[in-house]
Amino acid sequence: LAEPAAEVATDAEACELVSTASRALAAVGLSDMVWGHVSTRDHDGRGVWMKASGWGFEEINPDRVVLVSDAGEVMSGTGPRHIEYLIHTQILAARLDVSSVVHAHNDVVNAFASLQVPLRAVSHSGLEFAEPPVPRFTRTANLIQTQELAQDLAATLGHAPAALIPHHGMVTVGATAAQAVMRAVLLTRACHVNLLALSAGGPRSWIGDELNQMGWPLPQIDAGWKYLTRKS
Ligand SMILES: [Zn+2]
Repeated sequence: LAEPAAEVATDAEACELVSTASRALAAVGLSDMVWGHVSTRDHDGRGVWMKASGWGFEEINPDRVVLVSDAGEVMSGTGPRHIEYLIHTQILAARLDVSSVVHAHNDVVNAFASLQVPLRAVSHSGLEFAEPPVPRFTRTANLIQTQELAQDLAATLGHAPAALIPHHGMVTVGATAAQAVMRAVLLTRACHVNLLALSAGGPRSWIGDELNQMGWPLPQIDAGWKYLTRKS
């Protein structure tokens, strides 16, 4: 049986990683005041590490990161947990290959998703999301507050790198926090460039399947992540 992927080996590493990832998301403009979160899987199977509720991404340091159990109990750290923690626990339960989940509410993604048209690889940012089409969780636009809804979201995500949640936001996942964060950056940019092309009556061309399925090489993902962490 496959072991769940965990990127960190200690509590301190988990707090540091979530803090760094939160600041990286802020650096690229993915903050929605105090909402949205990024998580890393606990090394001991106790749940997920994510920022405490009430803080913006740019305000996070390792002291503002909490360990939340599958039942929603704060097991370590101080501060309340986010209402939508189940997005993280249920996706991590369904995806043993994933150690990190990003959930963000952003206008660009919501504007694009509301058009109900396919996401095209207009630029390289769309490579992982165009084909197969990025899944869309359309069951509710409300917050994901129940285990059943979160399980349904995880089922919609399936094996994909990300899912759109129309009128709410998106989730992205990764084997590392770097990959989950960079996918959030790239999916947002892909939605943005699609909106630009759509607003001009296009797009009339996009990147074909042969490049599409390659996705982004991990060294490029890491280079982008390192840049964001220097910038944050
Ligand atoms: Zn949300």
